[in-house]
Amino acid sequence: YKMVTPLEKQPELLSSVKNVILVASGKGGVGKSTMAANLAISLAREGYRTGLLDADVYGPSVPILFDIKNQRPVAEKENEKARIIPIEKYGVKIMSIGLLTKEEDAMIWRGPMASKTLKQVIEDTKWGELDFLLIDMPPGTGDIAITMAQDIKKAKALIVITPQQLAVADGRKAGYMFSNPHVQTPVLGIIENMAWFTPANHPDERYFIFGKGGGQQLADELNAPLIGQIPLVMEIEETSDSGKNIFLTDTPSVHKAFQELTNNIL
Ligand code: ADP
Repeated sequence: YKMVTPLEKQPELLSSVKNVILVASGKGGVGKSTMAANLAISLAREGYRTGLLDADVYGPSVPILFDIKNQRPVAEKENEKARIIPIEKYGVKIMSIGLLTKEEDAMIWRGPMASKTLKQVIEDTKWGELDFLLIDMPPGTGDIAITMAQDIKKAKALIVITPQQLAVADGRKAGYMFSNPHVQTPVLGIIENMAWFTPANHPDERYFIFGKGGGQQLADELNAPLIGQIPLVMEIEETSDSGKNIFLTDTPSVHKAFQELTNNIL
């Protein structure tokens, strides 16, 4: 027989972090990881102590985006406990399940196993004092997303969608998850990604190829602000796989949008 620590007696998760922001989406492929990575870099550039946790167990893309997938974090002993040192790049402290496990292992974890492992990684990582920890959430409203939102009491959420109606429907589900009485995670705002297309040689033109207004519609429905609209930029697609240029923020047309986004969440 083992005594179980009552929930309220458990030490607070991430007590050395001032703000925890869950970057979530209703479905994959809307640019959630790209937003989380760029937001982290923008915040670090503003001088905030920033960390990024990749919680997308089944498709960790942060190591690829930051081009650190061949790096292995080291552990150090602290009070008889091993603490993992996050990898630091572009001023961001980065941790990902993808840096700690073999891809084929994590892929077959069931929900509870994945949630438990993630929680362990959060606890064991030596984040130090941080102003912001961004968490790149798994897409959707599955087990892991719910557990993360529930367990990290101080977390607030950003929901990333694209302008289509289908994406709005998916974003709505994510919104319902966060507002559920058992979860109660405040939604900081909506980010509409791929809001329009701006050709590199015509930085002032806007083509609304995925439709218009989805971000605002979701924002109105969830009673949360639309805090950022990020254009679709060709160069990102071409370079993000290699991790050489994940800086949407270096593309002039996007730079402003990200600065506004950063200001909006501060
Ligand atoms: P998710 O995390 O939602 O699955 P990703 O961040 O991995 O999505 O993005 C999916 C794909 O879309 C990636 O190839 C990424 O480079 C691309 N992408 C994301 N946002 C943009 C954007 N604003 N402009 C161009 N390509 C983008």
